[in-house]
Amino acid sequence: MADLQRRFPNEPEYLQAVEEVLTSIEDVYNEHPEFERYNLVERLCIPDRIFAFRVSWVDDKGKVQNNMGYRIQHNNAIGPYKGGIRFHASVNLSILKFLAFEQTFKNSLTTLAMGGAKGGSDFSPRGKSDMEVMRFCQAFIAELWRQIGPDTDVPAGDIGVGAREVGYMYGMYKKMARENTGTFTGKGLEFGGSLIRPEATGYGNVYFLLNMLATRGIDIKGKRVAISGSGNVATYTAKKLLELGAKVITMSDSDGCIYVPDGLTEEQLDYIFRLKNFYRGRISEFAEEYGCEYVSRGTPWCYPCDIAMPSATQNELNGDDARTLLANGCIAVSEGANMPSTPEAIKEFIAARILYAPGKAANAGGVSVSGLEMAQNAQKITWTADEVDQKLRGIMAEIHHECEVFGKEEDGYINYVKGANTAGFMKVATAMMAQGIL
Ligand code: NDP
Repeated sequence: MADLQRRFPNEPEYLQAVEEVLTSIEDVYNEHPEFERYNLVERLCIPDRIFAFRVSWVDDKGKVQNNMGYRIQHNNAIGPYKGGIRFHASVNLSILKFLAFEQTFKNSLTTLAMGGAKGGSDFSPRGKSDMEVMRFCQAFIAELWRQIGPDTDVPAGDIGVGAREVGYMYGMYKKMARENTGTFTGKGLEFGGSLIRPEATGYGNVYFLLNMLATRGIDIKGKRVAISGSGNVATYTAKKLLELGAKVITMSDSDGCIYVPDGLTEEQLDYIFRLKNFYRGRISEFAEEYGCEYVSRGTPWCYPCDIAMPSATQNELNGDDARTLLANGCIAVSEGANMPSTPEAIKEFIAARILYAPGKAANAGGVSVSGLEMAQNAQKITWTADEVDQKLRGIMAEIHHECEVFGKEEDGYINYVKGANTAGFMKVATAMMAQGIL
C-alpha cells in the first residue's frame, strides 16, 4: 500500500479500493509464498494498460467541445476484459481505476469467464440533446473501437450510460469494425441484447439480499427499504422489492431525496421510471406531483429503515450515516452501487454484526447477465426472460455461497467483505500464476 500511495498519490478512490481488498486477503495471501515470489499482488493491483484520449465533438450551437475519454483494461487472466462505461462530470483516472480493479474481483465471483475493465468520460449527458449525445458517443468510439472486440474487451453501461448511449456506441463500433459480433452488452433487444439485462443489477441485488436474510431466517415482506439513486440499479431494485411485498421508502438523485413513509406504490415507481428514462427529469418533480417530503441535497440514510440499498455512487454513505442507520434499527445493507460505503461506514456495519454485502458481490448480477448476453451472442441464440432470470438467481446464490465459504468467522458471522475479496482474488491469482509473468 505504501508503495502504491507513493506512486499514485492523487488517486484516492483507487487506493481506497485496493486497500480494502489487500487488507481482507492478507491471511490467504500469506499461505501462498509463491505469490510473493512472483510479485503477484502488485501485478494484480496495477492495470494491464490504460488508454486515455481526447474526444472532440460539435454541440447544437456549432461549438466544438473537448472531453477526455478513457479505457482501463485491468486484468484478463480469466477472460476478455469486461466492464462498463461511465459518462459523468466527475470521471477521472482514479475513479475508473478503482472501478476496473473492483470489476476484476466481481467478474471472478460470477463464475463466468470475464476479466476486469472500465471506461468513461468526463462528458455529462445531463442537459444535452439526443443529437449531442449521439455525436459524443460516435466521437468516443471513433477513438476506442480498435481496442475493443467480442473476445478482447466488451464494454457495457454504467452511470450516465444506458440503452440510448450503448445503442449509439455499438452502432458506431459496427460501422468502424465492420462486424456484428456483439461487442458491448446492454444492447437493445432488437440487435443482440439479452432479456433481463436492464433489470439484472437491481434484481440480482435483491436476490443476494434474500440469500443473506435467509441465513437469519428473516422475511423480506413488510420490511422498510431505503434506496439511494433513481437510475437503472435503483429503479429495478425497487421494482423487485415491491413485487416481494417490501416497502421502498426513499429514492434520490444528485440534487436531493424523497421520503415516502408508507412505501412507494407501483404507480408511483412507474412515474419515477418514466420521469428518469423518458423525460430525463429530477426526483424533486416526483415530490411536486405526489406531495411527499423532499430534501434538497438530502440523502436517505437519516430515515428509520430495516434495510439500506445504496444504489447511486461511490462514497455516498459515510461513518455518521452508518451510525444513524444502526441507531435506527437497520439490520442489512446490500450495495447496488460500487463502493458506496466509506471504509469507516463498513467498519461500523461489521462491528455491529449486521448483514453487510459489498457491491462486488451484491451488484454482480448486472455483469453476470452481461456474460449471459455474450454467451447468447456467441451462439446466436436468445434465451427467454425466465431462463435468464433463473440463471441470475443461481449465480447470485453461488456468489453468496462463495462468500460464506471464504468469509465465515469463528463466531459464525459471515464477513461478506472478506468472503467476496478472498474468493474473487484466489481465482484470478491462480489463473495468473498458471499463465506466467506477462
Ligand atoms: P444511472 O446513471 O442509471 O443512475 C445513477 C443514479 O445515481 C442517478 O439517480 C444519479 O442522479 C445518481 N447519482 C449519480 N452520481 C451521483 C452523485 N455524485 N451523488 C448523488 N447521486 C448521484 O446509473 P446506474 O444505476 O447504472 O449506476 C448506479 C451505481 O450502480 C453506480 O455506482 C454503478 O457503478 C453501479 N453499478 C451499475 C451497474 C449497471 O448494470 N448499470 C452494474 C453494477 C454496478 P442524477 O440523475 O442526478 O445524476
